[in-house]
Amino acid sequence: RFIALEGGEGTGKSTQSRLLANYLQEQGLEVATTREPGGTPGAEAIRHLLLDPSGDGWEAEAEALLFAAARSDHVARLIRPALERGAWVVSDRFLDSSRAYQGGGGGLTDDAIMDLHRFGSRGLLPDLTILIDVPDDAIAERLARRDGGESDRIGGRDAAFHRRVKDAFVRFADRELGRFATIDGSGDVEATHAAIVTAIEPLLAI
Ligand code: C5P
Repeated sequence: RFIALEGGEGTGKSTQSRLLANYLQEQGLEVATTREPGGTPGAEAIRHLLLDPSGDGWEAEAEALLFAAARSDHVARLIRPALERGAWVVSDRFLDSSRAYQGGGGGLTDDAIMDLHRFGSRGLLPDLTILIDVPDDAIAERLARRDGGESDRIGGRDAAFHRRVKDAFVRFADRELGRFATIDGSGDVEATHAAIVTAIEPLLAI
């Protein structure tokens, strides 16, 4: 089973990925916990290229290709092998981040992002994508309290960009209901974790 956690900066995806992986392990399951961009040595090297604050940044198309290349390596070398041996995979971000950031935020078409995904990762989709939704004012407060932790590490992005990212995530979740579970992440860590466990329970039964 393959579960992706998605959402904007400061929504608590990384913490929730860890808690979910621990929960699944406690159920006696093998779990590969991973993240994007990254997850394999090659994809982590691409992450460095993407997030390097001393670089010149990337044009939208090049950025989308780099994310797709990182995902291709990640899928081929970590995610597919784990799924094939029967492990669960919990990924902090996956395809829908590219659709929301490079598409919704960066202005590329969803078709373009999906074409890259079909080519790079043979169109692999998670069994369930958990969108952690947190109101904007709560996000601003959380990010202000952090020193760079999960704040945006790609420069030149403004509030309007992040608004478009969030709107895109919500739009995908509304239109592709069977593939998404939207979780209210405005409460505390334990409440969000409990809601995520409830959302994945049907997958445990199969
Ligand atoms: O989730 P995390 O904070 O590790 O993401 C690292 C950075 O990559 C963030 O700045 C996020 O906005 C950015 N990102 C992106 N497009 C993606 C995935 C992540 O711009 N598809």
